This record gives sequence, C-alpha cells and structure tokens, in this order.
Amino acid sequence: MTSNATSTTNEVAPGVYFTRGAAVNWIALADGHGVTLIDCGYPGDLADVRRSLDVVAEACGARRLRAILITHAHSDHIGNLAALTAEHGPGVAVLASAAEVPHVRREVLHQVGVGDVLRHPTPRVLRWALHAVRAGGMGDVAFAGVAAHPMGEPLDVPGHPVPIAAPGHTPGHTAYLLPDHGIVVTGDAVVTAHPTVRRQGTQLLLPMFNHDTERMRVTLAELAASGAGRFLPGHGPVGTF
Ligand SMILES: [Zn+2]
Repeated sequence: MTSNATSTTNEVAPGVYFTRGAAVNWIALADGHGVTLIDCGYPGDLADVRRSLDVVAEACGARRLRAILITHAHSDHIGNLAALTAEHGPGVAVLASAAEVPHVRREVLHQVGVGDVLRHPTPRVLRWALHAVRAGGMGDVAFAGVAAHPMGEPLDVPGHPVPIAAPGHTPGHTAYLLPDHGIVVTGDAVVTAHPTVRRQGTQLLLPMFNHDTERMRVTLAELAASGAGRFLPGHGPVGTF
C-alpha cells in the first residue's frame, strides 16, 4: 500500500491497482503491454493520478499509459482526460460505451446541478459540494477525442477488461469485468460509501445524482450475477457481492 495525504493506492489483485482519492476512486490495470486507467478523478486529483501511475510503474515496471476507459462522464471521473492525454501523447486511447460517448463530449449532460444540491442542504451534502467546486467539478471537462468500444468482449488494452452495460446512474454507464480476478469495476453503478451519506457498505447513490435509480436496482442485480465476488466502486472501499 502506498499513500500520501489525499490518496491511497493498493494492488488488490495481480496487476490491478485501486486508488482511493480524496472523494473519488480510479483503477489502473497493468500488464507487459502497459497500463489502462479506468476513470481519472476530478481535475484537482491530477497530482494523485500521476502519483498512482508512478506507484504502478515502480511496482511492476509498466510505464506506458495505453488507454483510459470511462465508466461514466461525470466530472469526478473524467476530470483529467485532457491533461493525461497531453502528457502521455496521442497513443493513449480514450474509450467509453457508445451510449456514454456523447456525454464525455458534453453533447448531452446528465449530471446533478447546483440547484439540485441546494434542495438537499444537509451538512454532508454542502461539504461535498464545496469539495466538488474546489476540485474543479464545475469546470469544463468535455473531451472530444473519445471513441466507442465494443461491449461484452475483452478489450485489446492492458488488463483486457470486459465492458458490460450498467445503466441507471447515467444512461451509458459501463462496468468493467476482470474475469481472471473475479473483480468488476462498478464506477457509480454501485458504491460502498459517499461523502454525502453516513452509511457505509454496498449502496446506490442518492437519487438526486442518478438518471434512473430504478434501473440501477436492475443493474445491481446484474452486476451481482456477473461472476465477480468483489467490486471496485467509484466511491468507498472495495465491496463484495
Ligand atoms: Zn462519482
């Protein structure tokens, strides 16, 4: 385990690195061909994302960032696409489900607004909103250079994750199954904690954050039946089904 003030990176299975940032998580998959990042934090998490890639490089020698996959296009999950692709060069593929691509490009927006947040002004919600603003969550994170990946088959990127549709939080939300490890990366389809709630453990995000909370219940059942015993959520620690 490697940590600094605001993030902690753990190798949770061979070549699978789970980073818990200040308010959102991301995952790196490493093999002999390089590194795949799944999600990349708020803009304010950039130093921690870089540090987590350094941890991966030191642990296994994989330095080349080959791909960034997107579970969904909320600003706490795509905040560093522009910075990372600029740093690592045009060889980095940025991929999402076809249904989520327009959201990454901000041709559409499915994200809670400040007005929605202020209708639920608990102290935790306000603290979270303040962090979101400070971390760059209101900034322009649109990224045009994203392409669609196929679904339901191993991707030709390091770690070979299998994208599975996990709609509800956003219409095109995607989970990434790692069949060899019995792990699924769930993004915000199911989480184990969130700054806006006290409760810990497997849970759905508050309805104000979701496009279709009822569909999320179906998705949760589908993910639990995916064959993975453990999940790596966008918020909170490693979960189990
Ligand atoms: Zn999130």
